Amino acid sequence: MTTTNTDPAVADLLAFLKFPSVSTDPARAGDVRDCAGWVANKLRAIGLLAEVHDTAGHPVVLGRSTPHRADLPTVLIYGHYDVQPADPLDLWHTPPFEPRIENGVVFARGATDNKGQILAHIRGVEAALLGTSANGFPELPVNVIFLIEGEEEIGSPNLEPFLREHREELQCDVIAISDTTMVGTAIPTFTYCLRGLTALEVHVTGPAMDLHSGIFGGAVANPATALARLLASLHDADGHVAVAGFYDAVQPLADWEREAWKALPLNDEHALLALTGASATFGEAGFTSIERFSARPTAEINGFASGYQGEGSKTIIPAKASAKLTFRLVPDQDPAKIQALVTEHLFTHCPPGVKLDVVPGHSGRPYACDPHSAFGQAAQRALRHTFPGKEPALIREGGSIPIVTTFREVLGVETLLLGLALPDCRAHSPNENFPLANYFAGIRLNQVLLREIGATKR
Ligand SMILES: [Zn+2]
Repeated sequence: MTTTNTDPAVADLLAFLKFPSVSTDPARAGDVRDCAGWVANKLRAIGLLAEVHDTAGHPVVLGRSTPHRADLPTVLIYGHYDVQPADPLDLWHTPPFEPRIENGVVFARGATDNKGQILAHIRGVEAALLGTSANGFPELPVNVIFLIEGEEEIGSPNLEPFLREHREELQCDVIAISDTTMVGTAIPTFTYCLRGLTALEVHVTGPAMDLHSGIFGGAVANPATALARLLASLHDADGHVAVAGFYDAVQPLADWEREAWKALPLNDEHALLALTGASATFGEAGFTSIERFSARPTAEINGFASGYQGEGSKTIIPAKASAKLTFRLVPDQDPAKIQALVTEHLFTHCPPGVKLDVVPGHSGRPYACDPHSAFGQAAQRALRHTFPGKEPALIREGGSIPIVTTFREVLGVETLLLGLALPDCRAHSPNENFPLANYFAGIRLNQVLLREIGATKR
């Protein structure tokens, strides 16, 4: 059932979702900028000072509560207004930038990642400022800074220089981000670890041109075969990454973590299969699926290209083959060291008769914070208050938010990760969606979070 919804909070969300703010697409640069302007206006409309700052790429929007009160802690709330491309368009049930509400769920690109979640923070601050909250806070119990960027989906290339340049005005006591996942519907979730990542491309070249496989086949090495063998060498049969030294810096899982995760919904193998559509689970021997996808490092082939891809067959030995790889990393693996180990592995294992090139890509370090710190406990109190009767799930998340480690390096503070997405919100996929219940919970959560942080001794 499609419903119309006249709630101003919902109208705001729909307006935000209409911007095709696809940061990777140069043709969308104007839409990205327009979206930044909308965000800045929204922040001004709720009573904050806000500015759109140019960068070498897409703009950053900064907002802050005023006047600054030196006696209150300062919370920096980070999010992003850019989105992933919507392709493939034919898999969307309705157009990705024409948001649609069905059975209390809003469908649009960016609904969950990250527009719905960052807007919940903005509306939470607004409610606190207006004193309209059911919780009855007349004014902000903290100083608030919003930092909302437009390049998260392309790796935030200009954010670190921006942070360094604006370091003084961004001084804060703690950072809050909602860009992670709840483990299930209405299960409050606090994420205290994120995996890091390092990317590289592998190029294998053989003959100077594609060759007739009847005339030359068998006499020269086939780059596609060579690359397939090389990529197969990355894992052993038990799913362990076979790169020498890969696990050296990996911290073992604590007993309390492994025990706590047994209670999580995705510990159910059938739920994981239903969610992924895979026919069976597979991964590193000795670990559960939750441990594999959230707390263990991995090697993944993200793309693999070679030879003829058109209709029918074409009997050639391709001149070249290439693959895109990423490695998800956990504390305390260092991306630069892993790059070096993997590169060495690839050159050592490359079959004879071809030439190998390894091109390093982007990296982000893994992140870990103490869920039992004062701010960590404040966040968990806010979660309990928002979801009465539910104990927050403490989880590690398999994804990467590299900016979180940059925040720690540049601003010297920890980040509270309070995700509002659900595992089936389809971030980055066709039919991305966000339940309005999560949006409204996020607005309430943010209000209580400000109160709990305000009550924390600095
Ligand atoms: Zn994303």
